[in-house]
Amino acid sequence: MTDSADPVGGSAGQPAVTLPFPRTAKYGAAETEAVLAVMQEGHLSDIDRGPRIAALEDAFTTLTGAQHALSFNSGTASLHSALHGVGAGAHGGVVVSPMTWVSAITAVFQAGSYPVFCDIEPASPNLSADSLAHLPGTYSAVLATHAWGIPARMDELASATALPIVEDCSHAHGAVYRGRPVGSWGAAGCFSLQESKSVSGGEGGVMTTSNRQVYERALTLGHHPQRLQRELTLASLRPMAASGAAYKYRMPVLSAVVATEQLRGLPARMKAAEANLATLREVLASFDAPITFPVVDETSVRGWYGTPLIITLPVHDPQQLWDRLTQAKVPIRPLYEDWANVPLLQHPDLAARYWPHLAHTAYTPPSRQMLANYYRARRQMLILKIPHIPAPDYMEQVATAMASAVHRALSDS
Ligand SMILES: *Cc1c(COP(=O)(O)O)cnc(C)c1O
Repeated sequence: MTDSADPVGGSAGQPAVTLPFPRTAKYGAAETEAVLAVMQEGHLSDIDRGPRIAALEDAFTTLTGAQHALSFNSGTASLHSALHGVGAGAHGGVVVSPMTWVSAITAVFQAGSYPVFCDIEPASPNLSADSLAHLPGTYSAVLATHAWGIPARMDELASATALPIVEDCSHAHGAVYRGRPVGSWGAAGCFSLQESKSVSGGEGGVMTTSNRQVYERALTLGHHPQRLQRELTLASLRPMAASGAAYKYRMPVLSAVVATEQLRGLPARMKAAEANLATLREVLASFDAPITFPVVDETSVRGWYGTPLIITLPVHDPQQLWDRLTQAKVPIRPLYEDWANVPLLQHPDLAARYWPHLAHTAYTPPSRQMLANYYRARRQMLILKIPHIPAPDYMEQVATAMASAVHRALSDS
């Protein structure tokens, strides 16, 4: 079939989105004022837990209910430190999901361990407790991403393993699983504050934990001796107070003040996004579109970083579906690269160039057979960008264009 694009971007005669993607400036007056204030104070680097750093960390203990929050200069640094904190190491791998950002895999190398890939659930982008329970081999920890904002089943994962679980909450700021915030379920929670995330400091990360030992171990990896001197209490860690362990993981004050202001606006953005998703779902249902959404039950709250949906009929030609949707200006974004299949993960000699410890571990490259649900999701799952301001008209257009494009793609192939 040949398409001729019409002026509004859809295929001739087919519904397409004509309204622009609804957005406001990423950083508003509050962020700007906060930045100017610290500029005028003349301190952009905080070697200890100064007031700006403390305000951000306190905001994250409030958000999650965890006892401690520790700031970092990236989400990746927080993952490295959390994995070290919970005792990941060469003696056992760290269970990871392939459906995540690559840092949540490579941070495992940084922590001196190696990734062990585990499949996701059939109808969600998150680690499957069932697959975890049946995974062969020995591990030292589990790293569970709340992928695309959908809270992972933390209670079921905890029942499937006795090992510490680190939550990667980088897609899920403000999310709640069964009445309890993400970042408070596992041994530690990690939040990226990179600019694309729903709370941004430009760059940055925060680790939450209610375990004093995890907190102090994480501190030693990349925080300044002045902070270590003041905060380390455990006899086993006091020797590190003079020097730390040599990484440089502190968050710049500018990032901290921006993220603190961003966090204040999060509830309003979440509320608008929820309403937009509800509009979308209503209109899709009225078209009987073959589309479902991962279940977020009524005691849980999703976070926002793209919104996953599942095509319920077999997608034989994912590229054609993608083309149809993008021609109709439906705001979809690609899934991540297939990390399980990149050279770094498939060729242990390549990874060992950077991580010599790998040669002395039981690392084996991920196998496709072990990841059946993940590879099915790579065909059937789409990630939609939902506006974070009220946008009912836009959502109606998206749903209409989407229902039509999905219908045509499935009947063509
Ligand atoms: C963004 C992200 C990270 C890495 O965070 P940075 O702040 O970019 O280092 C880790 N995990 C997930 C799931 C992410 O989305």
